Amino acid sequence: MAQRVAVSDGSHKKTTRVRVAVRLRPYMGKQDEKDEGPCVRGLDSQNLEIVNWRNATESVKYHFDAFHGEQTTQQEVFVSSVKPTLPHILNGQNASVFAYGPTGAGKTHTMLGSPEQPGVIPRAVRAIFNLVKAKKEDEGWDYSIGMSYLEIYNEKVLDLLSPSSQDLPIREDKDKNILIPGLTHTTITSFSDFDKHFVPASLNRTTASTKLNQRSSRSHAILLIKETRAFRLKESGAINLSLFTLSKVVDSLNSGTAVRVPYRDSKLTRLLQDSLGGSAHSVMITNIAPEYKYYFDTFSALNFAAKSKLIVNKPFTRETVAVPVLPEPSVMDRLEALEKLMM
Ligand code: ADP
Repeated sequence: MAQRVAVSDGSHKKTTRVRVAVRLRPYMGKQDEKDEGPCVRGLDSQNLEIVNWRNATESVKYHFDAFHGEQTTQQEVFVSSVKPTLPHILNGQNASVFAYGPTGAGKTHTMLGSPEQPGVIPRAVRAIFNLVKAKKEDEGWDYSIGMSYLEIYNEKVLDLLSPSSQDLPIREDKDKNILIPGLTHTTITSFSDFDKHFVPASLNRTTASTKLNQRSSRSHAILLIKETRAFRLKESGAINLSLFTLSKVVDSLNSGTAVRVPYRDSKLTRLLQDSLGGSAHSVMITNIAPEYKYYFDTFSALNFAAKSKLIVNKPFTRETVAVPVLPEPSVMDRLEALEKLMM
């Protein structure tokens, strides 16, 4: 996945590449009913391995642009995977950071974090204010920064800054920028101003999902930060999206073989269309969890995120733990089907 490729969308040539990082959260004993120990672990800053479901004495290895292990701090994830994209937005290019992975694997922690350990969204917004302030001082820019915040829920586009609003349409302008007419755009003057709008709006989202008693995996939140003079940043917070559609898009962009990038197959990929491709700089952070109960989800997420995998005859060492009982037949069938799909 390390090549840089040209992708045509039918109208004009585009050059793009989506950077793929994987973050493994720490093993949490209480998450693991049988306390079987981790089924996945990091090897170095780009490689990890997961127990092979066919044969627990083997492992499957994966290579990514970056691997962030259990010990990686919020600051390290930001510096290595997000900060490098920020200067591009001052040149009028789009940037996009999105997280996916199973519920409980660390998307919210990575994107939003907590007051003590802020995630990449608050860090990026702070950094943007600093970058623009420096530009203003150096080059005498006048600038304004605005934000929009939306949720895709059951293929409906909902405005989180105006919770009573209805499903909004997605449009494209002549320059292929994706627009949502009617979406609230609020000017923000400082980081604390951002926080003042963002925190209650995030609660709108959680409450809405709980009321409808649906699983959070149906909900995708997208935060847009726009600098009206020269840059635009899109960030999707806490996304647990349709792995399939997004993976098809990322795969088309990264393989260089696709004639058509299937952006239109979901609202999420449609919305991310101008952030994934063209002059955009995109980072996909795949969040994974080490406990066996996540095995299927982790394996699926890794396979969708990477093509470069290798089965080796190397034992996956578990110091004190017996060979675990891996998934029942029905899950095995799903894994087999998935594996065929990925080949
Ligand atoms: P998701 O949003 O993917 O459902 P969360 O971000 O809510 O998952 O993470 C689940 C739990 O794991 C939370 O309690 C969170 O604080 C914790 N967690 C996730 N990632 C980390 C990490 N890298 N370090 C420490 N705790 C983490």
